Amino acid sequence: MSADTCVYIGDELARYGFGQGHPFGPDRLGAFWKQAQASGLAARVMCCAPVSADRASLERFHTPAYVERVIRQSKTGEGYLDLGDTPAFPGIYEAACYVVGSVLDAIKRLLAEECRHAFVPIAGLHHARRDSAAGFCVFNDCGVAIETLRRVHGLQRIAYVDIDAHHGDGVFYAFESDPELIFADLHEDGRFLYPGTGAAGESGRGTAVGTKLNIPMPPAAGDDAFRAAWRRVEALLDKFQPEFILFQCGADSIAGDPITHLAYTPAAHRHAAAGLCRLPEQHCSGRLLAMGGGGYNRHNLALAWTAVLEVLLENSSTPG
Ligand SMILES: [Zn+2]
Repeated sequence: MSADTCVYIGDELARYGFGQGHPFGPDRLGAFWKQAQASGLAARVMCCAPVSADRASLERFHTPAYVERVIRQSKTGEGYLDLGDTPAFPGIYEAACYVVGSVLDAIKRLLAEECRHAFVPIAGLHHARRDSAAGFCVFNDCGVAIETLRRVHGLQRIAYVDIDAHHGDGVFYAFESDPELIFADLHEDGRFLYPGTGAAGESGRGTAVGTKLNIPMPPAAGDDAFRAAWRRVEALLDKFQPEFILFQCGADSIAGDPITHLAYTPAAHRHAAAGLCRLPEQHCSGRLLAMGGGGYNRHNLALAWTAVLEVLLENSSTPG
């Protein structure tokens, strides 16, 4: 069967959150799924149970010392895993392992052609560095995914596309000198928003110059500005023809997010997903893995993520 879209749903994933009332609270998955059910999309997807990653998988991207630190602080639930944005809680290691493991399971299913598209709502934790947490992100599932696609599955040229309001610094700097990691990131200008990076001149280093596209958007940028900038993303992907596409579709770029200042509507997310689905078959056999990323207004994340899911479903049938 190759005509399906997989979605990862379950308490193990929902548990990745920093407590009720926190912007990244454990109610985000439920807010999305309720909307998916109300809109009838939930009944059309293949639901997959969250899967945990083992330590060896994490260490394809993260340093053993950092993984050890998360394990230790997960037992006590005390302190921060970075300089003060990402608090530990009891069981945070296990919760973070389910985020990464679900993404890796989605990759396995996509490559085995069990499905054509996959969506992991609680994932796309793009700020974590190889040796540290950052910005609510404990393990960088995107980074682990890239390393796993290469070392385990033998793919080389991977594209990472990110429309979250924040710059995907944890992915960008880990692969800044890597000419086969095609990176495109539209984010709120770093002069106005965490993490402050992702200037237009940051286009890769050494042999990787030109394989990275950072597009800072001014505060209050709307759908028209998004669509104009998005053309450059498609041009980059056409030029480098990736074998696999990772799509971080953070919903905090929608107007009304409590911690950012962009003003897209969910139509931007729909537009991006449709553009990625249209990429020629020969580039990556139509495979697309979407990860929910940020999004702290529950209503917005429900609408943006279901917009992406709808596009994945519309484009999921394989001819013949
Ligand atoms: Zn974000």
